[in-house]
Amino acid sequence: MSRIYNFSAGPSMLPLEVLEQCAAEMTDYKGSGMSVMEMSHRSPVYDAIIKETEADFRKLMNIPDNYKVLFLQGGASTQFAAVPLNLMKTGKADYVVSGQFSKKAFKEAQKYGDAKCIASSEDRTFAYIPEITPDMVREDADYVHVCYNNTIFGTKYPEVPNVGDKVLVADMSSCITSEPVDVTKFGCIYAGAQKNMAPAGLTVVIIREDLLGTEKEFTPVMLNYKEMAENDSMYNTPPCYAIYVAGLVYKWALKNGGLEAMKKRNEEKAAILYDYIDSSKLFKATADKKCRSMMNVCFVTGDADLDKKFCKEAEAAGLSNLKGHRSVGGMRASIYNAMPKEGVEALVAFMKKFEAENA
Ligand SMILES: *Cc1c(COP(=O)(O)O)cnc(C)c1O
Repeated sequence: MSRIYNFSAGPSMLPLEVLEQCAAEMTDYKGSGMSVMEMSHRSPVYDAIIKETEADFRKLMNIPDNYKVLFLQGGASTQFAAVPLNLMKTGKADYVVSGQFSKKAFKEAQKYGDAKCIASSEDRTFAYIPEITPDMVREDADYVHVCYNNTIFGTKYPEVPNVGDKVLVADMSSCITSEPVDVTKFGCIYAGAQKNMAPAGLTVVIIREDLLGTEKEFTPVMLNYKEMAENDSMYNTPPCYAIYVAGLVYKWALKNGGLEAMKKRNEEKAAILYDYIDSSKLFKATADKKCRSMMNVCFVTGDADLDKKFCKEAEAAGLSNLKGHRSVGGMRASIYNAMPKEGVEALVAFMKKFEAENA
């Protein structure tokens, strides 16, 4: 068997142990005589899977009892509409635009009410996180929306933004479960699962119970948080297999020390890469130091042809998917929970060799 180090931004690497368990259980899940893919979502055997997945996720993220966990579909992008539909109670919401996804979320919200961009970092190609203070938030805004880790630009909020007593909503698609977060500081957290938790197809929403029930009248039932909560994410067929894999990933994370341990590993991995880049004469990190992401490390040589050569030679060396997003260029190494430290060390060794050969 040969596995590459896959630096894809998403879908991305899953822990090998989890993939092996999926393979072992593929045709006969725990003596049921079927694959999880083949089961009725209303069967007792599947009911146990989804309940255990939720319980493990709650344990892993330390989610308080007054929050609901929803297992939905449609990707994080569907939440760009679901958030304003459910939470724009009086019709006003404030958005921080710190990258492409938060810009998309802002644009979508404008369709449903008075959405205002209160801060942006577009002036410097989203290389930093704009500062937010409570006085920037409109008095009557229903919520403030942020994207906590900007997957494309490799930036992350250094701390939870202070929005005073306003409801904070965060897109955590590319950093969820990478480190502990204080869920109580947020009214709503959502994330596409395909970066750090599961295969594509599953979107997780964590929502404070008192925020349910203020959806606009015309909200499609599939986007209605209250409806989904009341039906335990089973209004219709949920993404059954992705939920099962997410459950295995949560067990893997718990077994490996939970989110404190994930944070320690992730900090260590990111430091190996950033420390080398900062010492390099060839490579340069694109994000400002104080808001660098631990998950998505963006860097350039400053020469587009050389960047291309780097990605090509890296690919041949088993270091895959390092090409940066088309809007930034250069390189991006996504090093989520499942990327082992050895993968980052192999990347740095390759970069050193490349630098020596191309100086
Ligand atoms: C990937 C990503 C999205 C889009 O996710 P989809 O599931 O493809 O809709 C949104 N926000 C962030 C932060 C992302 O990383």
